[in-house]
Amino acid sequence: MAGSTDTLMSKVGEQGISNSLSAETMYHKCLTLARNLWWTWQPDVINLFRELDPIRWRQLDHNPVALLSEITPERLEIRISELSLHSRINQAYRRLKEYLSERPLWARTHAGVLGSKPVAYFSLEYGIHESVPIYSGGLGVLSGDHCKSASDLGVPLVAVGLFYDQGYFKQHLNHDGWQEEEYIDVRVEKLPLELATDEEGKPIIIQIETRTGVLKAKVWLMRVGRVNVYLLDTDVDGNNPEDRDLTSRLYGGDNRTRIRQELVVGVGGVRALRAVGIKPGVYHLNEGHSAFAVLEVMRERITDDGLSFHDAFRETAHSTVFTTHTPVEAGHDRFDAGLIEEHLGPLRDALKISHDQLMGLGRVNPNDGGETFCMTVLALKCSHKSNAVSALHGRVTRNMWSRLYSWRIEDEVPIGHITNGVHIPTWLAWQMKLLYDRYFPPDWYRRMGEPEVWEGIFQVDPGELWETHLTLKTQLISFVRRRVSRQCRRREEPDEVIEMARSVLDPTVLTIGFGRRFATYKRATLLLTDEERLNRILNDPHRPVQFIFAGKAHPQDVPGKELIQRIANLRKDPRFAQRIVFIEDYDINVCRHMVQGVDVWLNNPRRPLEASGTSGQKAVLNGALHMSALDGWWAEAYDGSNGFAIGSGTCHADFTVTDARDTQSLYEVLENLVVPMFYDFDENGLPQQWLRRMMNSISSLAWRFSAHRMVADYVRQAYLPAAGGLSSSMG
Ligand SMILES: *Cc1c(COP(=O)(O)O)cnc(C)c1O
Repeated sequence: MAGSTDTLMSKVGEQGISNSLSAETMYHKCLTLARNLWWTWQPDVINLFRELDPIRWRQLDHNPVALLSEITPERLEIRISELSLHSRINQAYRRLKEYLSERPLWARTHAGVLGSKPVAYFSLEYGIHESVPIYSGGLGVLSGDHCKSASDLGVPLVAVGLFYDQGYFKQHLNHDGWQEEEYIDVRVEKLPLELATDEEGKPIIIQIETRTGVLKAKVWLMRVGRVNVYLLDTDVDGNNPEDRDLTSRLYGGDNRTRIRQELVVGVGGVRALRAVGIKPGVYHLNEGHSAFAVLEVMRERITDDGLSFHDAFRETAHSTVFTTHTPVEAGHDRFDAGLIEEHLGPLRDALKISHDQLMGLGRVNPNDGGETFCMTVLALKCSHKSNAVSALHGRVTRNMWSRLYSWRIEDEVPIGHITNGVHIPTWLAWQMKLLYDRYFPPDWYRRMGEPEVWEGIFQVDPGELWETHLTLKTQLISFVRRRVSRQCRRREEPDEVIEMARSVLDPTVLTIGFGRRFATYKRATLLLTDEERLNRILNDPHRPVQFIFAGKAHPQDVPGKELIQRIANLRKDPRFAQRIVFIEDYDINVCRHMVQGVDVWLNNPRRPLEASGTSGQKAVLNGALHMSALDGWWAEAYDGSNGFAIGSGTCHADFTVTDARDTQSLYEVLENLVVPMFYDFDENGLPQQWLRRMMNSISSLAWRFSAHRMVADYVRQAYLPAAGGLSSSMG
């Protein structure tokens, strides 16, 4: 008797131990998955996290680190058992480990020399996922997509940026439709960040001397697949209170805040890489904000290698790649001589150059004492390879900066272009991926930057394509209804208004999306120029149309806020209440829902002010048709049968004339082309012509405007030339 009891007891004990062991192991595996943002482009891992607690998942902004912090290993184990998730978690964990340990074929065959000389990529914002709010819009999402594709392709790259504990603002509209900004402290322990450490395992603190004191920053490490992103944060002991807040907001504060942020990301960024033991072979400045980095690289060469300023300058420029994004002069950062001397003075001493020489690096005309210091000029002068972000933007940029190269004719200004693209695994709906999986070559997901694989779209059964699209559209409309009714509740509107919001929009109606920053040149209200004509289009009894708008205006941009207000207040106009909605707080999550579910993605900027634009690229991947002015990427993408063009691609010297022409064109394209084609159903209820255009669009655009293609272009055209060459000739 006693013996059998013993056995029983010990069995229970063992089981208890192995259960808690398994609980610990499972928790550890989930946490490992959550702490590398690789999961953000793995639909099955996203679904895993969601299933653990669908409601909290949504409430926590799809943040798995936050989700896991609310749950004990034991509780998690119970949940995993209930849902039988063990093998899926094990499999996801194994896939992550494999992903991190292999070096993809593409990099082994194409990125050669970068293996020992990684690329250091600098950007002021990174849009990786909605749960890590350190981005404001297009520039950040581009940086995020660049890192993700570099990771997938295996390009050796580390990234540098800032950590903003309040990020960019959250947008709410009040009763009058006026934008209000809310800043929320992000709790760093709820983010996938860890302190970066030096070779001895001690947290890194970098220091930057200025004429008015020392600035310190700690360094966070964020893992994005194989790419490490280092984020500097001035909230450290030893900084005065003002400096502790220096990096709390993205694009907040005055010009002095701005130059100090740029000092931290540029000079501090180079020092941070050095402290973690990384020796980059190439520096890529994504926009001029981080251009001070080159001065610090020159200082290293002078201090460490004894080079003269002249040689340090030449060698640094050779290994520097610069991408410019801003087609208007006013958009480029400029600082006066006082700010430059205050912040760069000590660095200038080490460079052994005069104040005037330093100022000259940021001036078009070095001898013009009245010219302020322009970050773009610094970046252009100090980089061997410069590029714009679309073919048209390249032409505009060469024209804008031809003064810098007065000895050359404009076409020979050494600024090329690499057109932006989007990270397909991030933006492609998983339902669409399943469809592509069935019809594309089996290895298409590894070869998504190649045109051939996308020919598979013509094999897809049109009925299946349409059905998949309708599923996604229905999802979008549920999302819109949820958000719009939440917006009404927040404004404490009457019950009947909230009730109406729950049924706003109609899944059978042609749905057009417009999601972007509300800058005036993007002309969000072009469509409203003739309200009666718009009314006729939207409320046509047989062929109605509806619109979903979203976007933030910069906090200081009053005209931008007025555009939002005008659109938001259409909900009070009975003609438009059921046909036009405004979703607050446009971010990666809102964008993803919109681009995956709309029929048409609208973009009508005033040419040539849209450098590239990328949201339309996300939409076409998912089968939406792009209707856009021939600006940015669309100017080189539209071929007559893969979407719709607004305007003829010319612009009048007087922009009011251009606007009037484009308005006319916008209405005509809608009335005569888009609406009739969408509603031209065959006997099976399929809009055959429309489906054909979807296929043309997917096959001709998806690969070309992918971030894989973009990163491959950077490797071939910029990184490899920057990494090689000069050192051999220097002997
Ligand atoms: C893709 C994206 C953008 C950029 O879109 P544009 O076409 O350049 O306007 C901006 N914001 C978010 C949240 C995005 O996801």
